Amino acid sequence: MLRFLGRGSAFHTENNCGFFVKGGELVLMDCPLSAFHRLRHIGIDNLTGGKASGVTVLVTHTHSDHAGGLGMLIHFCFYVLGIPVKVIAPSEELAGNIEYLVSRLDGCDRRAYTIVTPDKADLGFTAQPIATTHADTLEGRCFGWAVDTGEGRFVYTGDTNTLEPFLHTLQSGDTLYTEASAYDSPVHMYIDRLAPIIDGLREKGVKVFLMHLDDEKALADFAAKHGAELAGLYE
Ligand SMILES: [Zn+2]
Ligand SMILES: [Zn+2]
Repeated sequence: MLRFLGRGSAFHTENNCGFFVKGGELVLMDCPLSAFHRLRHIGIDNLTGGKASGVTVLVTHTHSDHAGGLGMLIHFCFYVLGIPVKVIAPSEELAGNIEYLVSRLDGCDRRAYTIVTPDKADLGFTAQPIATTHADTLEGRCFGWAVDTGEGRFVYTGDTNTLEPFLHTLQSGDTLYTEASAYDSPVHMYIDRLAPIIDGLREKGVKVFLMHLDDEKALADFAAKHGAELAGLYE
């Protein structure tokens, strides 16, 4: 359902970024700077299959491997492509934080973008933020998304140290994109904790993809053992 411009964790050269296309618009799940560079290289119009009408970004949280390319994307879409960027913030607080980042710090032209919460956005699909826990320094400001594109429903965890907030939203036929970490830490979804959850979801009929990978080889082995797959890269 999603393809990825990168599926690496924070210190990889291609940070995690899923996308889909809806009604001539490119919809990004976060926007790290590496995803912007990939978009420059690929061409947004090549992804949308014709002149893109705009770019929408669903933001999960403001760590730089998720939001570090937002300002650059907005500048580029405004000055080069002449198309609007719609940033969808999961909460009013984050909308304010992102406004500060792109307007105050990055000096983006106010005509170039809008930042709204999904209840105020005019989207061609539905998107519901799901609050989760990740890094203490961003407490209360980390989210995943449940998205129904019209063609299917997926849940995207963003960075999280638990799957608890997401599990009740997943039904048979849904797709889960979960972050997965081969190293145990308090901020990410360690595979030993993930294993029984994935097994349960598979039995329930949920398709599972792993993303935000810190060790591709270890996570590929893990995925194969548990009937999951690594997030599919756009080649
Ligand atoms: Zn991250
Ligand atoms: Zn993070």
